[in-house]
Amino acid sequence: MIRVVLEEPKKLSVEEAPIPTPGPSEVLIRVKVCGICGSDVSAYLGKHPFVKYPVVQGHEFSGKERRQSSRRTVSHMWQLLSL
Ligand SMILES: [Zn+2]
Repeated sequence: MIRVVLEEPKKLSVEEAPIPTPGPSEVLIRVKVCGICGSDVSAYLGKHPFVKYPVVQGHEFSGKERRQSSRRTVSHMWQLLSL
């Protein structure tokens, strides 16, 4: 998967990262769209008091949840999500 990392204020990098494996109580979401809010702008400018660099931003997004199906003929199913 591709992710954008804010390495330090005003310094972004694009990198390849492995697809994470969700735990038993977690879900894996394929992000389709992502918003930018005031917290993201503050972090980018180095003015957010709680951000520790490097950080992957984008906590407001929509996508599809991938989870295992109980049917053997279907390997997975998708459900729309917004967070
Ligand atoms: Zn926000």
